[in-house]
Amino acid sequence: MSFYVTTPIYYVNAAPHLGHAYTTIAADILARHHRQRGEDVFFLTGTDEHGEPVADAARAKGVEPQALADLNSERFRALAPVLGASNDFFIRTTDPQHMAVVQDVLSRVRDNGFVHKGTYEGWYCPRCADFKAENEIDEGNRCPIHHIELTREQEENYFFQLSAFQEPLETLYAQRPDFVSPRTRYNEALSFIRSGLHDVPLTRHKLTWGVPVPWDPEHVFYVWFDALLNYYSALSYAPAPAGSPLAQGELTEAFWPASFHLIAKDILRFHAVFWPALLMAADLPLPQHIFIHGYLLMDGEKMSKSLGNVLDPFAVIDRFGSDALRFYLMRDVQFGQDGSVSTAAFEQRYESELANDLGNLASRTIAMVHRYRAGLVPDVPLDPHLAADFRRLPQQLSELLDRAELTLGLELIWERVRRLNRYVEERAPWVLAKDEQRAAELDQVLASLIAALRVLALLLHPYLPASTHLLLSALRHDDRSLAGAEWEWEPEPAPAGRAIGEIDSLFPKSA
Ligand SMILES: [Zn+2]
Repeated sequence: MSFYVTTPIYYVNAAPHLGHAYTTIAADILARHHRQRGEDVFFLTGTDEHGEPVADAARAKGVEPQALADLNSERFRALAPVLGASNDFFIRTTDPQHMAVVQDVLSRVRDNGFVHKGTYEGWYCPRCADFKAENEIDEGNRCPIHHIELTREQEENYFFQLSAFQEPLETLYAQRPDFVSPRTRYNEALSFIRSGLHDVPLTRHKLTWGVPVPWDPEHVFYVWFDALLNYYSALSYAPAPAGSPLAQGELTEAFWPASFHLIAKDILRFHAVFWPALLMAADLPLPQHIFIHGYLLMDGEKMSKSLGNVLDPFAVIDRFGSDALRFYLMRDVQFGQDGSVSTAAFEQRYESELANDLGNLASRTIAMVHRYRAGLVPDVPLDPHLAADFRRLPQQLSELLDRAELTLGLELIWERVRRLNRYVEERAPWVLAKDEQRAAELDQVLASLIAALRVLALLLHPYLPASTHLLLSALRHDDRSLAGAEWEWEPEPAPAGRAIGEIDSLFPKSA
């Protein structure tokens, strides 16, 4: 089994913000979950560096576009480890190997008869690096996303014959209802296809900051087609993932087509319409799923640098740690929908759920094993009533994450975190400990609590890699695979019971 997940490559013209962190965190959770299932996993992120906006910004600063791209790409590269992201590669579209693949694939598209020369005239947004259709332009000829004035542009271009793929795309959508999700996005893409597809520019004539067109050096490839091909090109030159039996050069065969492209809704059309058409034109297999998440809203508007309402992920992580940010973003906003985020809601979730529900549960459970049983987990049969609530959890979580239902998956686990807190209150180990007659009962409660905590820590590991690592280490559980999250899982038998370690507060309230 192999699993390949991607984020969009981030455009280097802006600084990293919470929206970028959001997609990277989501992709990381899927990648970590599939690694726990024992699959070969490849997780790709990176930067999109060509196009007019970068060239313009570089000119304004009096530097070469490459120098600006180097500087800004590094900020995105640095964001990934800060978020706890375990990406296997970081692609840059200025990598010469990527550029060679772009030339190769798009030449094949031309050889296959899907490229022709023509004149394009239309309303163009330099920030989107895209022409806008008449029906999507805001009042005063403004970009509906950036609210800036559009420019009227006319140029001689090579066109990609998108119109040839009207029927193949309609067939694709009919045959694969899970190609695009959530359903609202599937419907949106399909209705765009049904409204009639027109050929689109494949190259830009006036620009030089891009991948040169091999058959006409006066042109560079339109930045969107250059960018989309990163998902495919990366596999041809990325090193094999650490610990993988694969060698460099074997990744395309092992991982293409991608399992999941995660994107935000503003780039739906490029991914759900242009991208599959381009792959068909090049005789390449199509990705399995495209999942479109919503926007994180601040004061009811999309967070973006150009709107100037940015919540800085670096600042949040500095204060609370990356796990807290990962948890909050997956917990508070239903993945796939728009949702509001705020500092107040963040602090509330941190306090009541991470610090109280999970942090306290872990520290008091471990403390009781030390207090009442000298740090040895009793080797006794577990509580069958609790077992009923924990059985089949790994399978249920896998089924949700197979559909990228990250918020539902977290809720599934959190119901058990709450269940376990109720169990502690119901069984009151501190009362049992006062009665010598009830020692066997106390043994069973403590052993069951530790077993349940192990299950929860393993299931939460993709969401909260840093804190569950501490917790699992304290439980002396070295294996991070999902098999250990089965309730029926049996540890190595030890006659005197298993010794566990101690733990500091996982989510300090003083943060
Ligand atoms: Zn725009």
